[in-house]
Amino acid sequence: MRIVLLGVPGSGKGTQTEAIVNRYCISTISTGDLLRAEVDAGTKLGQCAKPFIDTGNLVPFDIVLGVIENSLRKLSEASSKGFLIDGFPRDLPQAEALDKLLLRLDQPLDIVLFLDVDYEEIIKRLLIRGRNDDNEDTIRNRLQIFEDKTSPLISYYTKKGLLRKIKGTGDVTDISSHISRILDEVA
Ligand code: AMP
Repeated sequence: MRIVLLGVPGSGKGTQTEAIVNRYCISTISTGDLLRAEVDAGTKLGQCAKPFIDTGNLVPFDIVLGVIENSLRKLSEASSKGFLIDGFPRDLPQAEALDKLLLRLDQPLDIVLFLDVDYEEIIKRLLIRGRNDDNEDTIRNRLQIFEDKTSPLISYYTKKGLLRKIKGTGDVTDISSHISRILDEVA
């Protein structure tokens, strides 16, 4: 099963990702995690990405595309049961690039899940989470970028018949069960 998980930072993607990959034995690709690993390892790529991550801006297209391409190729060679991509695509050029890449690998997406949480709730959650890039200015910037650049993907994937919207507030296990019901239909 091949899934893209969309949602504002702090919408619970990390928590739900864990539940989904455990249930369906698929792999996760999180561009945020991959980029942070490059920063921590002090690689050249990480050094280029760091200022963007620190300010909550999108890391340039070529850098992120390289990262995702690498991971998808590795998975495809390992003939895995599928994947869940978290944090990518973040804008239309990335979505179009992903379509092309998956077409080349002959691994089209089965479904795009959108975890829907309102912004005030998100700010509260992120301030509690307290990651390095979770200060109020950066959070507002990341929400603005989601609104301007990522939210057009909702209609992009709706038109392709792939999008399922899930209410991301309330009890975490209820949200997980809702997602499982949807994914069981696809599996
Ligand atoms: P995340 O862990 O998904 O919230 O991502 C943390 C930060 O990594 C973002 O604020 C961006 O700076 C960067 N990032 C992650 N994924 C992408 C992406 N697909 N495109 C550009 N920047 C990204």
